[in-house]
Amino acid sequence: MEMTKWFDTNYHFLVPELGPATRFGAGVDWLFDEIDQARALGHHVKPVLVGPITWLHLAKSHVAGFDKLSLLPELLRAFGAVLRRIAERGIEWVQLDEPALGLDLEPRWLAAVDNAYASLAATGPKLLLATYFDSVAEHASRLAALPVQGVHIDLVRAPQQLATWRAALPADKVLSAGVIDGRNIWRTDLRRVLQTLKPLHAERGDRLWIAPSCSLAHVPVSLKHEDKLDAGVRSWLTFAEEKLAELQTLGRALNEGEGAVAEALAASDTAAASRRHSKRVHNPLVQRRLAAITPAMAERESPFAQRIAAQRESLKLPPLPTTTIGSFPQTPAIRQARAAYKRCEIGALDYLHRMRAEIRLAVDKQTELGLDVLVHGEPERNDMVEYFGERLWGYAFTDNGWVQSYGSRCVKPPIIYGDVYRPDPMTVETTRYAQSLTDKPMKGMLTGPVTMLQWSFVRDDQSRELTAMQLALAIREEVADLEKAGIRIIQIDEPAFREGLPLKAREWTRYLDWAVRAFKLCACTVRDDTQIHTHMCYSEFNDILPAIAALDADVITIETSRSAMELLEGFGEFKYPNEIGPGVYDIHSPRVPEVASMLKLLERACEVIPPERLWVNPDCGLKTRGWAETEAALRHMVQATRIMRERLELPAEMGEGVA
Ligand code: GLN
Ligand code: ZN
Repeated sequence: MEMTKWFDTNYHFLVPELGPATRFGAGVDWLFDEIDQARALGHHVKPVLVGPITWLHLAKSHVAGFDKLSLLPELLRAFGAVLRRIAERGIEWVQLDEPALGLDLEPRWLAAVDNAYASLAATGPKLLLATYFDSVAEHASRLAALPVQGVHIDLVRAPQQLATWRAALPADKVLSAGVIDGRNIWRTDLRRVLQTLKPLHAERGDRLWIAPSCSLAHVPVSLKHEDKLDAGVRSWLTFAEEKLAELQTLGRALNEGEGAVAEALAASDTAAASRRHSKRVHNPLVQRRLAAITPAMAERESPFAQRIAAQRESLKLPPLPTTTIGSFPQTPAIRQARAAYKRCEIGALDYLHRMRAEIRLAVDKQTELGLDVLVHGEPERNDMVEYFGERLWGYAFTDNGWVQSYGSRCVKPPIIYGDVYRPDPMTVETTRYAQSLTDKPMKGMLTGPVTMLQWSFVRDDQSRELTAMQLALAIREEVADLEKAGIRIIQIDEPAFREGLPLKAREWTRYLDWAVRAFKLCACTVRDDTQIHTHMCYSEFNDILPAIAALDADVITIETSRSAMELLEGFGEFKYPNEIGPGVYDIHSPRVPEVASMLKLLERACEVIPPERLWVNPDCGLKTRGWAETEAALRHMVQATRIMRERLELPAEMGEGVA
């Protein structure tokens, strides 16, 4: 089954695949084992299941014309059986998570909500319908009327929905108030939350529950072992364990009065005040620079047609230029060198020499393969966000702040706590060194502002937009410095561009507007003849093509091979105006694709995009691959390109008689 991102998180789930013949059994013995274990330990258990509407809504089907909703009655029978088995154990409450209610649901899906909960109401346990990640105020009256005993709402992401819910939810139902941020690592301002909770508590008494906004799977486990974290920054944070303690404090404050938790409240006040006034958070220099941004700073000097002419003139690339996305294999030797350097077992100079040797190796191999635009290979980068974060002010890093992301794989997102500032160039020396080894153009590689934002824990004391603009200013300076150092092609990666889209379509325009502006602010400092590339991977672009075109990158490289060029067809139909490099092979497998298969993809690409605007490249970076398969695959890629060039009888150099 495919793994895909759970709503707007970086957590991936297995997407169920359905068809007319799908049947459901209640084969979830693990669930009952877990419940029994927890009860044996003496816990009062509230089992949590994904609700039937969300489950069905997220499932997919390859059967044309098949309507997933037709399976709802079957699915409800299975849910009913599970709930009855839970009830047999004397469990009082079951939580059914329905985050899909925060999306734009069609009326027939909303009607299905009514059916589903009417059918589940009679199974035994009391039901808590849990919503999160966005407001569900527009459905408040419908949800309040369901035969469930309680509703959970996310008051961190969508505090504005509280008034509606206060009015809509009958007094005999439980309101579960999600007041502790389950998506971010900031310490809760307990005093502020108490102001919200006190009137609710007065109204509802025991029928007010307090909870994290959503599952705590999206934050790290515990701050306990983060000894290296700066003490000031640490005092502003809470991870899952500390968030549970906050919840307890809030509960006691409500039940026993604030006097009972005076110390904890005072500590919360101190932390909130110190963060609000910290000089490490607020940097006047950054504020001044932000205030000085003008619209012209986010526009290139000339339109694409003029720029590309200047670039062809100066770069003298062949048609269908070949390149890669940036990284080359992160070999054990590279990882060992990095680890040794981190542990201070080797010195900076030694480390520099080792990295330079890796760069030279990558350049030699690319030269031998006959690629047209080279990269340095990114040996010095542990991670495309962490590497830059470590070189910017305003970022902090944890030792153990792991969050589950892809199957058993975890990520350790950095924390942006303060105004972002670039004290020194971050990639210039490395890129300049790589360029010195070859006459071919060396592509400078940077991570874009939206991806830096998306893959970090971000500030909650200012808008995401503002943080993105700070990141953009820092990257813009790097772009300018690379250009000054003689680098003529600069790639700004934005693999997470699509991931930042809000759950509700009506909020897309606002997001896309600032996300595009942030990218352009980075890119638009360069001359016409400096070529800006961007790279995006593994997401569906067809519904945001206008925004992607608005980035106005001279070249975009995208993943296309796994989706059989579907994506590219979207770009063709939309008449994407600039140059484009559809990935001709999937780098997520060690398999070496045949020349013929890449040729076929190239042929299809040439049908939808004029060949004079096409590039040839793999899907994504090659850091997870070994050298053997990488070299073999790239050799085939270059061969396929040469065949295609001959077939199309393209001139030897771009700019000679091509439009
Ligand atoms: N330049 C990065 C690399 O090649 C891009 C990675 C990505 O798209 N996720 O590794
Ligand atoms: Zn990629």
